[in-house]
Amino acid sequence: MNDPGAHPAIPDRTITIVMYHYVRDLARSRFPEIKGLTTDHFERQLRYLRMHHTPIRMEDLLSAVMEDSPLPANACLLTFDDGYIDHFLTVFPLLDRYGVQGSFFPTVRTVRESRVLDANKIHFILAAVNDKRRIVSRLFAALDDLRRDLPLEGNEELFGRYAIAGRFDSAEIVFVKRVLQKHLPESVRSMIIDRLFSEFVSREEKAFARELYMDLDQIRCMRRHGMFFGGHGAGHYWMDSLSPPEQEREVEASLELLADIGVEPDRRVFCYPYGGYNRSLVDILRERGFRLALTADPEIASLDIHDPLALPRLDTNDLPGRPAA
Ligand SMILES: [Zn+2]
Repeated sequence: MNDPGAHPAIPDRTITIVMYHYVRDLARSRFPEIKGLTTDHFERQLRYLRMHHTPIRMEDLLSAVMEDSPLPANACLLTFDDGYIDHFLTVFPLLDRYGVQGSFFPTVRTVRESRVLDANKIHFILAAVNDKRRIVSRLFAALDDLRRDLPLEGNEELFGRYAIAGRFDSAEIVFVKRVLQKHLPESVRSMIIDRLFSEFVSREEKAFARELYMDLDQIRCMRRHGMFFGGHGAGHYWMDSLSPPEQEREVEASLELLADIGVEPDRRVFCYPYGGYNRSLVDILRERGFRLALTADPEIASLDIHDPLALPRLDTNDLPGRPAA
């Protein structure tokens, strides 16, 4: 025990916020290569968190911020991005069974329009094809077509620049991701992604989207059972690269969805797509009454240090409780 005379107790104001995306029975799914957490690992991690941390509700975190009050020791909060159907089918029943609240952040487009986000299309293109060189060669062909109208670098130069194997990804995977996520101009990026998605994954985008994401009824059902919902933008963009009027439109669309879900105005929480945010976006959120916002900076959050509109989160892979790959 501490010497009681030495230090006054310092109230704990730190919290481990954990970020999840896909959680599914990967081995028995149609796309086992999708980078996600398996159901077993998720359940193991839930047990670990309940043993070593105190899972709290988003409402508790909101009160701690608003009232400057302490958090329980080793507080943790579970967050789930992008509104995947996994969250309704797999995550929600487990959380309910273990008595833990999850906070979920769906994008407007997937709920309202049954569209597959470009980021997800890239995941599934890569997971659908064993020999990644096939994707690279189709991407080269698409770039060749574009070169008639756009001054793009040659395929070999591009490949030489971007195809550098990473810690988790082969050179071909890194190449496809870099070109489709960042290198190509916005105007042609979606067109090429659509072409590859339709060739390798599915020609029925709407049907695919309905299999991939939650709908409004499922979201409302989870909310009735005590789960929390916040905003994640409309189109899942790097919002720090949008103009302030575009940022406002994204936030407004999120607000309308949250109103439809039934989220109270004093419980507005935002989660930045890809973790991208800047000053103007933070100002817009504050004006619209958002109390908290989550980044993807991998740190333990501290209410004494971090801006409540830029709270960091750890990725599920940064936590113990899952075996090494
Ligand atoms: Zn996201």
